[in-house]
Amino acid sequence: MEPLVVLDSVNKHFGELHVLKDISTTVAKGEVVVVIGPSGSGKSTLCRAINRLETIDSGTITIDGKRLPEEGSGLAKLRADVGMVFQAFNLFAHKTVLDNVTLGPMKVRKLGKAEARKRAMELLDRVGVANQAQKMPAQLSGGQQQRVAIARALAMDPKVMLLDEPTSALDPEMINEVLDVMVGLAKDGMTMVVVTHEMGFARKAANRVLFMDQGMIVEEATPEQFFTAPKSDRAKDFLSKIL
Ligand code: ADP
Ligand code: MG
Repeated sequence: MEPLVVLDSVNKHFGELHVLKDISTTVAKGEVVVVIGPSGSGKSTLCRAINRLETIDSGTITIDGKRLPEEGSGLAKLRADVGMVFQAFNLFAHKTVLDNVTLGPMKVRKLGKAEARKRAMELLDRVGVANQAQKMPAQLSGGQQQRVAIARALAMDPKVMLLDEPTSALDPEMINEVLDVMVGLAKDGMTMVVVTHEMGFARKAANRVLFMDQGMIVEEATPEQFFTAPKSDRAKDFLSKIL
């Protein structure tokens, strides 16, 4: 298995708070890793560190063999390799759905307008919202907006997709339409790190579950092992609360 994202002894503090404690793990190409854990355990900080939206205090993070730089143009390039989807869809409110998807590729990947539009329409079609291309984000349902956010991230041709609780702000009836898109991506071989408590998704799509608590990876297992026979008391306790 070829490593794509490698974290080696990553530490991060917010002031006194030690939010990532010696995190080491490797995500292989094509692997789908689900990160699960109680609120405040460091899951979002971990994602943000991988995308270099947060600095780290020590340790290293490499994406496809390249160490994340501190800043500069190299950073924009590396960041473009990491697609990020947040809980709150974060679409550009004053741009059409189509423009939301074409903007990044034109700016960062230097794609021409026609090419960017063609590719954007393919991606919007793939996530099932091609017929919404000319609308403004606010005219779409939450599930549709989140699927646009996924298309927008994919438009940059990322090497890995990070999805941080992509369905937790959605009304229940919209969760599956987003999860289905994610399962499709996983089946197509996209490397993904997904923070979610959706066990249906984990069982269907994940190769591995990382259970985090208090800034540490407490347990690493297959979804089958983790959900049926968690080893640590902390994981058992957590699962008893969400199941
Ligand atoms: P999770 O996503 O697992 O809920 P987070 O990574 O968001 O956890 O947060 C981990 C801890 O770091 C929490 O205690 C949170 O309050 C704290 N934290 C997160 N972001 C910041 C920040 N920018 N400044 C200070 N503390 C933060
Ligand atoms: Mg979070």
